Amino acid sequence: MLGTSLASLAAVATSRTTCRFCGAPLQDVFVDLGMSPIANSYLRAEQLNRMEPFYPLRCLVCSECFLVQLEEFESPAQIFSDDYAYFSSYSSSWLDHARGYVEMAVERFGLGADSRVVEIASNDGYLLQYFVERRVPSLGIEPAANVAEAARERGVQTLVRFFGTETARKVAADGPADLVIGNNVLAHVPDLNDFVAGIRDVLAARGTVTMEFPHLLRLIEGREWDTIYHEHFSYFSWLTVRRVFAAHGLRLYDVEEIPTHGGSLRIYGCHDAADLADTAAIGELEQREREAGLDRLETYLSFEGRVREHKWAIVEFLTGERRAGNRIAAYGAPAKGNTLLNYCGVRTDLIEFTADMNPVKQGRFLPGTHIPVHAPERIREERPDLVFILPWNIRAEIAAQLAFVREWGGRLAVPAPEVGVLE
Ligand SMILES: [Zn+2]
Repeated sequence: MLGTSLASLAAVATSRTTCRFCGAPLQDVFVDLGMSPIANSYLRAEQLNRMEPFYPLRCLVCSECFLVQLEEFESPAQIFSDDYAYFSSYSSSWLDHARGYVEMAVERFGLGADSRVVEIASNDGYLLQYFVERRVPSLGIEPAANVAEAARERGVQTLVRFFGTETARKVAADGPADLVIGNNVLAHVPDLNDFVAGIRDVLAARGTVTMEFPHLLRLIEGREWDTIYHEHFSYFSWLTVRRVFAAHGLRLYDVEEIPTHGGSLRIYGCHDAADLADTAAIGELEQREREAGLDRLETYLSFEGRVREHKWAIVEFLTGERRAGNRIAAYGAPAKGNTLLNYCGVRTDLIEFTADMNPVKQGRFLPGTHIPVHAPERIREERPDLVFILPWNIRAEIAAQLAFVREWGGRLAVPAPEVGVLE
């Protein structure tokens, strides 16, 4: 018995050396962001004097299928614990995005009281609540118990589980799903093949699965390396994601490029044999990815040098502001901010505090950097000279909320796509 448990512990702690999808050996580094804490592990004051686990944040690329992926160090159960701080409903632009999706889906797929919608990683019910409003039978699947409880409170039926073939069997026993949704979950899945096989098992014969995930093409072109963190195991191009679904009998018949998370793909898939025609968009995107070199290893190997240049520019910018005597606060406490601040070695000598609307994060400290997180009102009280917007992908929304900073001559800045002050 002891032998078994030690062996399973070792399996968690050992780095992965073969591709999560195709099993080829992994040897090529896409980008090495050094040692970093788990991005969502916000600390309480009493934890600041304790040891804090840091893990390698090293991203590899498979030379066979070009799946960009992290070495795996943490078990999913540790990452998505009861303490998991992410609640989708705190971002108003994200709620607008969800509402717009539901309107589109009801219309395009003709969903009604006889249909069934299943969302994987349904979070606090931020999206399914709009199907519930329209009386479309819906089921959420969400591994974090406290987040699932919030969904139930808004009337969204939720199963507390990870998704894979085992959960799919249980869900399919109550009937197939006309629409399977997965937003920002595909990248977080440790067992990718079991997950996609589970989608196939739960999807109705003429059903559609839609998935949204950050687009690797945009990550590379926009140098969005701060979207790399431990919870985010895989980074997909269109070329690679299509191969992954095809390996499990699912055909991707449409794709849209959407602005969320710095540039995402929304893919539409069905069973191979379903009578849903391929759209022109898929050929167009495939050609663009080939032109960008996503089917050649050299493209991936040239990324790290561009990331280092960006880091140096960010450190120079913050240091220059401090040397000029300016006080800097940050805005937001997103996972991407933690990757950025840790890789750049930022501490409270550069950024005094950050402010976030999510009450779960307020009163805590960012992992690794130990920058305190306060409520947004703190910015008005402290009057910093510069507010550094960490969730730069929603900078327009945040800049509007922070317009009051100009009352005392304060300025707003973003780290990306180029670091600098917002005009
Ligand atoms: Zn591979």
